[in-house]
Parts: sequence; structure tokens; C-alpha cells
Amino acid sequence: MATDGKISLAVLAGDGIGPEIAAATTCVLQAASERFQLDVRIEQHPVGHESLRQFGSTVRPGLLETVRSADGLILGPTATFDFKDEQSGEINPSRFFRKNLDLFANVRPARTYAGLPNRLGDFDLVVVRENTEGFYADRNMEQGNSELLVTPDVVVSLRRITRHCCERIAKAACQLAMRRRKHLTVVHKANVLKIGDGMFLDICREIARAFPDLVVDDVLVDAMMAHVVRQPDRFDVIVSTNMFGDILSDLTAELSGSLGLGGSLNVGTDHAMAQAAHGSAPDIAGRDVANPFSLILSMALLLAWHGERSGASRFESAARAIESAVAAAIEGGQSTRDVGGNLGTAATGQAIVEILTSNET
Ligand code: NAD
Repeated sequence: MATDGKISLAVLAGDGIGPEIAAATTCVLQAASERFQLDVRIEQHPVGHESLRQFGSTVRPGLLETVRSADGLILGPTATFDFKDEQSGEINPSRFFRKNLDLFANVRPARTYAGLPNRLGDFDLVVVRENTEGFYADRNMEQGNSELLVTPDVVVSLRRITRHCCERIAKAACQLAMRRRKHLTVVHKANVLKIGDGMFLDICREIARAFPDLVVDDVLVDAMMAHVVRQPDRFDVIVSTNMFGDILSDLTAELSGSLGLGGSLNVGTDHAMAQAAHGSAPDIAGRDVANPFSLILSMALLLAWHGERSGASRFESAARAIESAVAAAIEGGQSTRDVGGNLGTAATGQAIVEILTSNET
């Protein structure tokens, strides 16, 4: 909490299309702050290549403390594929903040929109993905990486699954499902990863027993690719381990109309980070064509999280208004080309600002 009573949000624009979509997102945030009297103060800091140039590290010393003292973080996409050597300052910012702020739940909603082709029928679901262990080799070990080069031709990649992380992600998913349509689906591969995913599935069922109103089922991750494409409206809240949840949520975002619509919030006990589901898209960077909706919707999730924690309902109202403004813009064709419009990134952000300030939502 900022000392002047304002809500401080750190914005780290990132690489590639990051600066363009972050600029559109901060315009929308400022407009929402004015309309709903949120008193948000935006603090911008470089991260990724820009930070590497300026400070010799993609995440400069002291940035973690700065972000910790803010009320929330908005992280643009970064060129993680370029960052290979942590010793030379090439840290993956996404992993760094998820791990150091213990943002264990990655919440990724996906829904259909009027105005977009909708071959599968309407759906509205949320993928809740474990964020701090699993097959992500850069977050499993106290020191070093859990991907090992045994010989030049042999690699061993270790996946870590712990009771603690399974319990907390299962509880977060159950609580979310209770606020929605009370249906939880556990996605796993316990027929092959019998011990690790077996434990994940057992713990999810165990935790769900404390929520007797929940309907709980489970689906094998490979079969899930067919089920979610065949009948997406069958699902409400889906919980999965890190890698499976990551892959599945890109699919559900694309099924909703575009990967560029995938809002994403990383949540822990004390901190939250809004982050677009997609990457830095270097192929379209600097051309004012990137879709800013993913980061705008992620920012709305951050406002809703803050409202729920603080009891300040105006933050939740602002989040709902932003989501409605995005839906209205898509329906009215005021969007980038990937979702059927003909506007640039900045003009799309401006269209959301205009819808918000005209009180249409
Ligand atoms: P990508 O998600 O950046 O791009 C995949 C495709 O989707 C590209 O054709 C791109 O042009 C398009 N696309 C992505 N976002 C879009 C948007 N907002 N609007 C319109 N089109 C969009 O994936 P990639 O090309 O495989 O990865 C590029 C870089 O991003 C790599 O360095 C990768 O490691 C990194 N990455 C970062 C994150 C993150 O920061 N959270 C996530 C994934 C990938």
C-alpha cells in the first residue's frame, strides 16, 4: 500500500510487443481509475532486454523489493527464449516473480464473445494452473536447474510434485469453483505418471471433500484436448499441474477467439501479478498491430483481486466494466485484425477508454 493512500501498481512493459500493449493497458487503467475513483498510481520500471542494457540484468537489483512494496504488478511479455545464462544477468522475469513472490496459482479464464466466429458454441471456463513446480525446470531446485545434460546426447528433465503445492492449488480451484458454477475438473495423466499425478489427483479429491456442494470429475490430459474442443461448455473450473495447465490454457484462449484474448493472473497469498498469456511476439513487434486485450483483461483480473482482498467493491466494478468494454469493442469491430477489427494497438486501447468513459458499461 502506498503511503499517500493511493494504490500503487508496478508496470514492467517487457520486450517485443510488451511496450505497445503495456501502453494501451495503462491508458485503460488510468481511465478506469478516474471513472471508479480507484486512486491508482502507476510506477513503470524496465525489465527484460531494456533492463539488461541499462543495469546488466533483465531484473535489476532492488526491483523485487520495489514490486513487493507495490499493491500489484503488471508484467508485459518478455523474450524468455533469449535469456539463457542467469550468471550474465539473463534472468527469466516471469519465473523470477512467480517464484520469489510465491505466486502459486495461475488463473486463466476463457470465454466466447459475440462478434467472433463461434463454431463450438458459447463457453465460459477458467483454467487454474499450478505455477511454482512441475515440469518447469527453472523453479524446482534450491540451487540449479532440474534439467540435466547426462551426456551430450542424453537429457534428463525432472518434474517436482509436492503435497503442499497440490493442496494449495486444489484449494484455490475449489474456492473459485464455489463462486462460479460449482463444477471442478481435475486434468492429469495419472495413468502414466502414476505416483506424481496420482498424488495430485488424490489430493484434489481430498481437498474437494471440504466443499460438498462441488461436483468434481477428472479427465486425462490427452483426452482433454478432444473433450474441450468437442464440448467446451461442459467445463467450469479446470485445475491442473504446471505444464499441462499452460498448454491447455493456450488452447482454451485460442478456442475463445484468439490467444490475444487470454487474460492471466498469477496469485499468491500476499501478491498478484497480471500477465498476458502470450509471449513477446517479436514477429509483429513495433508495428502497432498487437492485440492488447490479453494484458488489459489480465489487469482487470488484478483489480478484481485487489477489490476482493481489500473489500473495496469499486475495484471489482472497474474490473467488470473493463471486461464488458472489451466485449463491446469486439462486438463493434473496434479491435485489432486478429479478432476481426482493423484498428492498431493504440487505437484499440483508446476505443476501450472511450467505451469506459462514456459510461456504456
Ligand atoms: P508468442 O506468444 O510470442 O507468439 C505466437 C504467435 O502469436 C505469433 O505469431 C505472434 O505474432 C502471435 N501473437 C502473440 N501475441 C499476440 C498478440 N497480443 N496480438 C496478436 N498476435 C499475437 O510465442 P513465441 O513466438 O513462441 O515466443 C516469442 C517469445 O516470447 C519467446 O522468447 C518466448 O520464450 C517468449 N514467451 C514469453 C512469455 C511470457 O513472457 N509470459 C510467454 C510465452 C513465450
